[in-house]
Amino acid sequence: MHPYLSHLECPICHRHYRLEEVTYTCPTCGEAGTLDIVYDYERLRQDITPEQISAQTAPESLNLWRYRPLLPVLDDAFIPPLHIGWTPLLRAPRLAAALEVKEIWLKDEGRNPTASLKDRASAMVAARAAEIGAEVITTASSGNAAAALAGVCASVGIRCVIFVPHTAPQAKITQLLVYGATVFLVKGTYDDAFDLSVQAAKEYGWYCRNTGMNPFTTEGKKTAAFEIAEQLGWTAPDVILVSVGDGNIIAGQYKGFYDLYQMGWIDRMPRLIGVQAEGSSSMVRAWAEERDPVSMTVEPATTVADSISVGLPRDRVKAMRAVRATNGSYLSVPDTAILAAIPELARAAGVFAEPAASTVLAGLHRALETGLVGHQERVALLITGHGLKDIKSAIASVEAEGKIAHPVEPSMDGVRQLAKELGLA
Ligand SMILES: *Cc1c(COP(=O)(O)O)cnc(C)c1O
Ligand SMILES: [Zn+2]
Repeated sequence: MHPYLSHLECPICHRHYRLEEVTYTCPTCGEAGTLDIVYDYERLRQDITPEQISAQTAPESLNLWRYRPLLPVLDDAFIPPLHIGWTPLLRAPRLAAALEVKEIWLKDEGRNPTASLKDRASAMVAARAAEIGAEVITTASSGNAAAALAGVCASVGIRCVIFVPHTAPQAKITQLLVYGATVFLVKGTYDDAFDLSVQAAKEYGWYCRNTGMNPFTTEGKKTAAFEIAEQLGWTAPDVILVSVGDGNIIAGQYKGFYDLYQMGWIDRMPRLIGVQAEGSSSMVRAWAEERDPVSMTVEPATTVADSISVGLPRDRVKAMRAVRATNGSYLSVPDTAILAAIPELARAAGVFAEPAASTVLAGLHRALETGLVGHQERVALLITGHGLKDIKSAIASVEAEGKIAHPVEPSMDGVRQLAKELGLA
């Protein structure tokens, strides 16, 4: 028994379930009813203080398991050994000066073992899989969730079967193979891969990690919010920009700050702004038209930011709640702005992001222009994945501005000539 875990709750019909009772989504509401895992905040508040959490300074506690009482894991024996979480929250003064913003913080999630925020969710799902004795875990993924699952599974010796669209960047597919996953390269979209993985999980009795569908994913991702608050001395930034595909990351940030707010460890919720690519922006449209996310259907999705190329956001109900309940907003940015933000972020802060991560910087520009974010605010950007994940897009981003490497003859004469041409001498 978990001392603080209370129940599962559907965000649509608000029915409660016991943890053992339901594995995936709400039996009444179906696939849109992605469940919340709810804790006994009253008891947590009595038993645990933020000072106790922050007093954990030993190297083995500098990871996401430092929030163990607030995580849905029953036994330490099931915790995977990889170092996941406790990524740096970097101050970005040069970027802040360039954008004339008071403070910008970068949560550098590329620093996780498989180089994206998805490691947090996969760690939680793998721990749950071990608890229930699952022998095979499956997932659909645009790439990063799969790489994270493959890495974590390798660390604990659980088999994993991945459904990934054939268009996923080569680095991500290579990660899967290197970690030893079995890869079904789907000749279709992420949404096709999602449906296939659900059917295969059912047919073969595999445990399914799918984003949103598996309630443990949000619980893993919420630890990024815990860390941001702790790294800011148990305060919340004014606003956080989060890129949105399935909406599970933004739902996770909401859940993390919600947990902390319920316990009184932070005194207000940050505004959450969801940023999508124009070519994959169904949440932005649903938000603008005030549509009920439950009734959304698959729409065409194309963007250079493969990690957020999603036709039907699986965690749309919680993703809409995250923005609505925090007085936030949704906005979209074009692929050209997403690509331009890669070198911009790298040069202003030394952080190399994949397109789905640089998306939030493009979104910040937009939000400052439209007044959605004020220049006096404390802003955090969730940099969800590393730039080396998608070299093709990185190359496109520098080619677009005409930046090249300069060929030079192997002699000092050659160097001198080039230095002169470049105005260095
Ligand atoms: C998965 C992912 C996202 C989007 O997360 P969702 O939960 O699908 O909204 C953003 N950036 C990166 C790098 C990702 O891997
Ligand atoms: Zn329900």
